Amino acid sequence: MKLNRRAFLGTLSTAAAATLLPRRIWAEEPGQRKKGFALVGLGNYSTTELAPAFRHTKHCRLAGVVTGDPAKGRRWARQYGFPETSIYNYDTMEKMADNPDIDVVYVVTPNALHRRHVEAAARAGKHVITEKPMATSVADCDAMIAACKKAGVHLAVGYRLHYDPCTMALIQIAEDGHFGPFKSIRGANGFRFPDDATPQKYWRINRKLSGGGPLMDMGVYVIQEVCMTKVEAAPASVTAGFGENSRPAMFNTVEENIHWTMDFADGAHADCKTSYENSETYFHATAPRGWIDMGSSPFFYRGQVLRTNLGERRFHPVNQQALQMDGMVTEWADGLEARASGEMGRRDVIILEAIYESARNGGKRVSVVV
Ligand code: NAD
Repeated sequence: MKLNRRAFLGTLSTAAAATLLPRRIWAEEPGQRKKGFALVGLGNYSTTELAPAFRHTKHCRLAGVVTGDPAKGRRWARQYGFPETSIYNYDTMEKMADNPDIDVVYVVTPNALHRRHVEAAARAGKHVITEKPMATSVADCDAMIAACKKAGVHLAVGYRLHYDPCTMALIQIAEDGHFGPFKSIRGANGFRFPDDATPQKYWRINRKLSGGGPLMDMGVYVIQEVCMTKVEAAPASVTAGFGENSRPAMFNTVEENIHWTMDFADGAHADCKTSYENSETYFHATAPRGWIDMGSSPFFYRGQVLRTNLGERRFHPVNQQALQMDGMVTEWADGLEARASGEMGRRDVIILEAIYESARNGGKRVSVVV
């Protein structure tokens, strides 16, 4: 599709924006009934974003939970209207095999636990979505992909932005090639971690559970977006360095700041950083015949804006999590892997590992082999 000025600047509803995209989001009807989801880990993201998103899904409903807190499970059962027989704990997940009400297990636990919970879901014969980053090592990603393959179930990663109309417009620009290949890219994503945090209380700054600091948490969004501008190519190599550690008592097993570069086979170069010290967030990419800029909220749940040399596009508010869950079950119903597949999650963990390897070795160039 050729991108012209009027088409780009036109005021587009979400549905109209979706029809411009090369990939299909909605199937006619992915099944007779809404697909039943079980959320694993009822922490912040499940509570504040995923569970409420089921009010906006067309093809998914909350049908069960996995939690270490039975009383919380019962509260959720009452609130969301599923039977108490659909409450599991982390050691009884495999019993979901006997529960036809649950089709999809959505793993929303600390990063280092994703593998264990994905493998348990696969053994129960359920399709699986795991949150980002997919895992804390490539070896874990390989094991998760193998477990899902063996069980004959789909595996996706909770990359909500792949289903967000604004980010999808960016992907379309990259795929369309109207601006030429993006060559110079800059991205950052950070926030200030609470000053009173301790690794005992906050798993994100405890390497055993997180696998790393802001790179694992916020930096992965920058990596994702850079790869989108390169039509999902992986970089050929990376270099990286740890930044300042302004609160060493807090950041004693993970970095507080890290910056890195991504170099691509076509000569494209990305300069990136992420931080638990500063809340600096941006994304900008330049091609021979155009540029894109995502303002200061490229990775947020709402408020995305896409500026280019052709003008600015704002998007009607959407519920990204609802679009993501509906999009994934629809892709599966269509016989496809989700666009945010396990393979994509694995690619990103390969890049994360390469960045850490470079930073640990004084910024040496590390090849990325996917
Ligand atoms: P959280 O700490 O609020 O919740 C984690 C949940 O895991 C809690 O219910 C906790 O009880 C449970 N848990 C089980 N075993 C645990 C253990 N051994 N230690 C600690 N907690 C344990 O975290 P969160 O913010 O909900 O993040 C969970 C996952 O979701 C992470 O992988 C994170 O990267 C991801 N996430 C994704 C997005 C997104 O936009 N896609 C946003 C936020 C979080």
